[in-house]
Amino acid sequence: MTTLLLDGGPVAQDAPVSRTGGVPLGPAGMVWPVCRACAGPLRFLAQIVLDTGVLALFMCAHRPGECEQWSPSAGGNLALLLPAEGLAPVPVPRGADPEVLGLGAVRAAVPAGAAADGRAVLGSLGGEPDWLQYDETPDCPACARPMGFAAGLEEGPDPVTAMNFGSGKAYAHVCGGCGRAALLWQC
Ligand SMILES: [Zn+2]
Ligand SMILES: [Zn+2]
Repeated sequence: MTTLLLDGGPVAQDAPVSRTGGVPLGPAGMVWPVCRACAGPLRFLAQIVLDTGVLALFMCAHRPGECEQWSPSAGGNLALLLPAEGLAPVPVPRGADPEVLGLGAVRAAVPAGAAADGRAVLGSLGGEPDWLQYDETPDCPACARPMGFAAGLEEGPDPVTAMNFGSGKAYAHVCGGCGRAALLWQC
């Protein structure tokens, strides 16, 4: 069953809720992740609170397209499945451009059944992915089994908060047993 994630309006940068934008929360000592293709700090896109933990989603904004940002394995994006307890804001890398590190606004993403009630749809939880192209379910990098679909993300209605999925959609998968996550997008 699919639960929509609807725009819940502005929320604090470090709110421990599902949201797009703001600063990532991570376990103590977590270092801001970098792009495996260009080595620049990744942009924090969103965190999604799941039953199994907190999904933290990042994507490179240094060289749009060139770091294979759409790929679940090339390193131009990153999905982490973090334990829900003990999370704190991850320190911002010194000297990094804030526009590269994050979206321009922070919006709560509120789970809301199946009716949008006129609010913008930011994504979805659970159910089956509505692939724009073909089924690209990633295999878990740890156990090699197909990962489970956890959440879908839309670019969002507001240019300040828009994530760049090439006007498409992003798909986040997890392997709960291995504690791994993967992000990919299609357009
Ligand atoms: Zn990059
Ligand atoms: Zn696995």
